[in-house]
Amino acid sequence: MGHSTLFRRTLLLYAAMIFAAVAARGDTIVLKNGRRIVAFNVREEGDKVKYETSAGELSLPKSIVDHIEKGGGVPMGDSPAAAAASLAITPPAMAATSGGTEIESGAVHDGAIDREYIGKLEVEARSGGQRANMSAALAHHAAAQLELARGDMEHALADERTALTYAPEEPALLMNVAYLHLRRSEYKQSLDYLERARRVAPENADIAKLAGWAYYGMNKMDQAVAEWKRALALRPDPEVKAALDKAQRDKQEEESYKENESSHFTLRYSGAAEPALAREVLRTLEGHFSAIESELNFTPPDSIGVVLYTQQAFADITQAPRWVGALNDGRIRVPVQGLGGVTPELSRVLKHELTHSFVGQKSRSHAPTWIQEGLAQWMEGKRSGGSASVLAQVYKEGHAPPLEELEGSWMGLPTDTAANAYAWSLANIEYIVQTDGMGDIERILDRIGSGSSTEAALREVLHSDYNDLMQSTAQYLRKTYGQ
Ligand SMILES: [Zn+2]
Repeated sequence: MGHSTLFRRTLLLYAAMIFAAVAARGDTIVLKNGRRIVAFNVREEGDKVKYETSAGELSLPKSIVDHIEKGGGVPMGDSPAAAAASLAITPPAMAATSGGTEIESGAVHDGAIDREYIGKLEVEARSGGQRANMSAALAHHAAAQLELARGDMEHALADERTALTYAPEEPALLMNVAYLHLRRSEYKQSLDYLERARRVAPENADIAKLAGWAYYGMNKMDQAVAEWKRALALRPDPEVKAALDKAQRDKQEEESYKENESSHFTLRYSGAAEPALAREVLRTLEGHFSAIESELNFTPPDSIGVVLYTQQAFADITQAPRWVGALNDGRIRVPVQGLGGVTPELSRVLKHELTHSFVGQKSRSHAPTWIQEGLAQWMEGKRSGGSASVLAQVYKEGHAPPLEELEGSWMGLPTDTAANAYAWSLANIEYIVQTDGMGDIERILDRIGSGSSTEAALREVLHSDYNDLMQSTAQYLRKTYGQ
């Protein structure tokens, strides 16, 4: 009985922490070497500065901190996409054309899009010449701008693409489509449009600016730096200057690392690590890559960054607590000190972290934490046998955590609550995979990636809501592991 009371209390605390995480704005810790760390709940305690990240509560010696900026920061998410999305870059402006203002106010007025007006322009464009086509393009562009302002990326992209069909050579439209792909973390697609724009307008500074962003998001720092330097040479721009400084800092920090590449990975390791070990890690990762690729029927388009650390460098750079074995914050970061080769334990960790990269890219960084962690555990080979009886009992008593509470960040969860969150996540994924196969997971991730909420995706694919899923999972645990 004591167990379930404790569990309920932990859950309440847990819900409160999730709420706090959502409500809080990030603070920025500025180190004396210029590095900036955006984090939640930054506070000074004795000679330490403590803060929270997705890896748990971390601390820095006060002596290396220059100052703390309160509020306003956007905390880093769990993907390179999130890091790239935190760059402050505004959409490219459309040059004024004659009659442009009239068309804009015809297409968008009173806070709404006038589809009838746009339809008329489209009819005229079909029979008209270049000018009529440009008008239809401008009208769709105006609609896209309104949708973008409302955060509706999907419709903004559809309208901007339609605009482009009426004026396929217009650099501003090509750049706006590229910009929307960037906002959706679709770097390859973005670069395709930027290349087209560059053929028409080779000296345009905005093209280089956006291309820098795309390379930055793809973790290709050299190319990002080159594009942003080019953009600055063409036109001074404080946004580009800030982005370039950030990329150069990132680059510098990692220049002390040697580099290795395989077909899907860019691997860096600190000087002390054995090159032979690095090669073996790459081979292991490539093996896991093929396995996960065929299980999820998906190939991540962007190269995956991996950093191997000695234990000390890992602790210094990630500031992670000692219990954190490895991290995936967009790059897979693994401490390997003292290892002569890839142990079964390291191989398991690599597969777990690699799964996060697949799920992140497949769902465009929108997968909820319970799917991320459930699937990563499933892929590394964990099963629910050990926890089934406890979970089934907790469910029977009505104390299982609602899945919607496991969607957001698990940052700062108390250890035992986090353990329960991991166990339920694995159990739900295990139930889905064992009942209907990995194809269902694949379809759920695709729907989440195209903007669906997780529960809506479950309804479409499994015909279940969160309550149904938890009930089926509890039944599955009893039936499979006997209770
Ligand atoms: Zn994980």
